[in-house]
Amino acid sequence: MELAQDIQYLKGIGPKKAQLLHKLGITKIFDLLTHFPRGYEDQSCVTPMSDLVPGEKAVVSGVITSLNEKRAGRRNMTILTALVTDGTGFLQVTWFNQKFLKAKLKPGKKLFAAGKVEYAFGGQGQYAMSQLSSFEIMDFDEEMTDNLGILPVYPATESLNQKFFRKTVSQLLDNIECIPEVIPENIFRRYNLLSRDEAFRSIHFPDSFAKVQLARDRLAFEELYLIQCGLMVLKKHTQEKKQGIKHGLNSHLVNRLLAALPFELTNDQRKVWNDICNDMERLVPMRRLVQGDVGSGKTVIAMLALVKTVENGFQGALMAPTEILARQHYEGFMELLEPLGIKVALLSGKLTKSKREKLYETLVNHEVDIVIGTHALIQDKVNFARLGLVVTDEQHRFGISQRAELEKKAAYMPDVLVMTATPIPRTMTLTVYGDLDVSLIKELPPGRKSIRTFVRTPDRRELIYKFMREEILKGRQAYVVCPLIADNEESHLLSAEAVYDELTHGIFRDISCGLVHGKLKQKDKEAIMQEFYEGKIKLLVATTVIEVGVNVPNASMMVIENAQQFGLAQLHQLRGRIGRGEYSSYCVLVADNRGEVAKERMHIMETTSDGFVLAEEDLKLRGPGQFFGSMQHGLPDLKIADVLQDIDILLKARRAALETMENKVDLDYVLPVLELQYKEHFLNITDT
Ligand code: ADP
Ligand code: MG
Repeated sequence: MELAQDIQYLKGIGPKKAQLLHKLGITKIFDLLTHFPRGYEDQSCVTPMSDLVPGEKAVVSGVITSLNEKRAGRRNMTILTALVTDGTGFLQVTWFNQKFLKAKLKPGKKLFAAGKVEYAFGGQGQYAMSQLSSFEIMDFDEEMTDNLGILPVYPATESLNQKFFRKTVSQLLDNIECIPEVIPENIFRRYNLLSRDEAFRSIHFPDSFAKVQLARDRLAFEELYLIQCGLMVLKKHTQEKKQGIKHGLNSHLVNRLLAALPFELTNDQRKVWNDICNDMERLVPMRRLVQGDVGSGKTVIAMLALVKTVENGFQGALMAPTEILARQHYEGFMELLEPLGIKVALLSGKLTKSKREKLYETLVNHEVDIVIGTHALIQDKVNFARLGLVVTDEQHRFGISQRAELEKKAAYMPDVLVMTATPIPRTMTLTVYGDLDVSLIKELPPGRKSIRTFVRTPDRRELIYKFMREEILKGRQAYVVCPLIADNEESHLLSAEAVYDELTHGIFRDISCGLVHGKLKQKDKEAIMQEFYEGKIKLLVATTVIEVGVNVPNASMMVIENAQQFGLAQLHQLRGRIGRGEYSSYCVLVADNRGEVAKERMHIMETTSDGFVLAEEDLKLRGPGQFFGSMQHGLPDLKIADVLQDIDILLKARRAALETMENKVDLDYVLPVLELQYKEHFLNITDT
């Protein structure tokens, strides 16, 4: 049995089942092996219903005898109740707001569930249970599974149920003699790992929970190790493939720029600048990520690095995530660099065709030293005479492959500097940016007015907006951020359109307001942002489109409606739009006071202004899923490792990967594994 074979070759999998499996992303036999259980059931410890004790957790199994659905509460919550019996007693099981369950729960079906027994009612042996931590619905004719020990619980669907997965995976494992090892023996021994074969068998059908842990650790190690190897191979290839540039020591232009800056660099800025100089002065191409909180002063670092490349006779490119940001950078650069005789150009999407072509020409002829733009910079038509450095701002909007795209533009490898304001916890940095060296700017420039953050309930909105009106009448500008663009029936959340309507017909009817959201055309969006930037619009009602946006030092207040809807890191980014000037700034988070977690999160926002702390908290509270997903462009999904929990495993895996890079025999062993498992992630890019 070849693990790379199509799933269809498996016994019992016809075209129809195969198609259903494809929907779950399972196409090869190996995918089925890595369709890991989301949990386990210890079927050996079912409690008879007559023995349940209120207040305690229990595992029960029984047959559904009746069902009842009710709606209740202001939010029209659905409450689904099933009466279940196992012959020794009755249990009433309740689910809230899980409409999809109704179709599956039918009288006569078997229910296997784990949860907390809430209370006893009626006579003896009658109990209620709600908010089940896990449960499973089976057909009645399914073999009794009691006393089978620990059974896997798979992510399943309507048509592919637990029974199917258990049977198919078990058959598959029976048919494979031995799942081949992928970790070099050296590493395998040194890190004391379970064999791959044993790990896969134990993760699916463990004989104890201790074994599950060992198996999981082994497989997580494998996953992280291979990805680390992939990233390191990628880095090595890009660094070896072409010659890099050895920039000279800092000289006249850099020094003149440093002298012309209206401020002194902070200690952190100086440290980062030092890292960058060291990198640039080596022949090995620089691959550095600068992480710095919003407003920590990354732009000036980018500027210094670009001037350094110009000073050495090269050209530099700065890529920004939006047109407005590109224009802002352009204006800032012109102000400081024009006096030094450096030619800066803006590659704007607004240029006419002929102007754009003219600009392309000046790049090829080296009449321009530094070009600033958006993604347009990585189009095929853009070529440089001598590209020395590429800086990308807000990297999380660009993928690995886009970075690679730009790097192709030179005959040798240009240096690459990546800036991000999204603070990422260390584990994630290593996984997501494993091919980059990292520098941090933690401190903010001195004299920054701190932003005061308040959490308020919706009944205070009138007062909040009155205060905002006063700020605006004093000459300031303000933002209102909403979670939705337009009202919709499914949601009770406030929309930007509705709030704009409310405010412009009410308290702000005599004040010029603007509305921006993601549904507007890019051009219209930018026109409004521009007016806000120029101070023509005083109040901007928006969705999160302003997250990475304009720098308007005059904006001193932000109200975020339904604030509990946003991630902490996101709220922090949003808040970073104010407090950028000389004025005291206020951020008001409007949130109803429901739910402990929500309250806790809002409290953290009120008391913390450190983006790194917030990012860690966010991960702890919300899990890595969405956060990770949005920035890992081009990296493989983690199937078993957990970027939050597995820091220890990750550090070990990283060490092991470094050892592997130094050991030719081991590396030769791993390369074909990468080729097989992660070709599209690591190897295609290096082929270019
Ligand atoms: P970000 O890191 O968010 O890109 P910027 O580079 O836009 O931050 O810097 C924010 C503001 O701080 C800018 O107005 C910049 O001129 C100013 N600034 C940067 N470094 C310093 C410094 N060392 N001292 C004082 N102000 C600084
Ligand atoms: Mg910036």
